[in-house]
Order: sequence, then C-alpha cells, then structure tokens
Amino acid sequence: MKAFKLNHQHNISPFINSGYITCVIESSKGNIYYGTNIVTGSKIAMCAEKSAISSMVSNQDYIIKKMVLVNELGELLLPCENCLEYLLDFSDPEGFEVLTSAEKEKTANIHDLLPDYWGTFRTSKEDWQIFFFIYKLILHQFCKYTSSILQNNL
Ligand SMILES: [Zn+2]
Repeated sequence: MKAFKLNHQHNISPFINSGYITCVIESSKGNIYYGTNIVTGSKIAMCAEKSAISSMVSNQDYIIKKMVLVNELGELLLPCENCLEYLLDFSDPEGFEVLTSAEKEKTANIHDLLPDYWGTFRTSKEDWQIFFFIYKLILHQFCKYTSSILQNNL
C-alpha cells in the first residue's frame, strides 16, 4: 500500500514525534498530497488529515476527491471526529471517497461518516459553489497578505 510506504516514524525529541499516521489525498484536480501526524508535548497535535489538507491548500488546490489514512502498521483508519468536519469543509457537495478496505477496494462516502454534518444544511449546491468561489477569493487574498507581511519582516 503506497500510503503505508510514506510512513516515516520519527521521534524528533522526547516531546515530539511524527510519521505514525499518514494521510494521502487526491484532489479534484488529480493532484496527490500527503501529510503526517505531529504530536508535541505542548498538547497541540496535528492530525495527518489536516497536515495533508495544509499541503493541498498550500498548492492552491481546495477540493478533496479521495482519501486514505493509515497507521504505522499499515492498517486503514477512519478520520477522527474533529477531522471529519474539517475534511467535509474541503469536499464538494457530493462528498468524496474514503478507502475503508484495501483488499476489497471498498470505500465510504465522507458524508456517511458524519451524516449530521452541519454544513450540509447551510447551503444548497448552487449556494455552495458561490460560497466556495468567495471562500477561495478570500483565502487567496489572505495568503497574499500574509506572504507580503512575511517578506517585509524577513
Ligand atoms: Zn484528526
């Protein structure tokens, strides 16, 4: 399994480790992104799903089409509740496939994993497309703004 091969467990320090969970995302543009978990002693942890989304958004790609999540043993995992909502925010209205069985190539729709997702009720499909267009515009401006601040301060 390709996602498993991307796992690279590493104890960065006594307080930081990463690489025990790997998430691979295929975007609606067909690009592949992966992310790893990062756990620190500060109690602030980064799930692999959010790490992969961060990579996707950093490349100005915003919609997830497929996702795989594996642990250090190569076992498939489902996203935690916190990530489910986050992942759904980066889905189109139809949702996307999450691999649930590698042997049987079985998938679940992300909406089935969090059927009461509040975002489903907030917009219709048409509204969603307008919302997403505005969201991308704002995100793009925010990235330009933060990038200019960083460049001025470096
Ligand atoms: Zn999570």
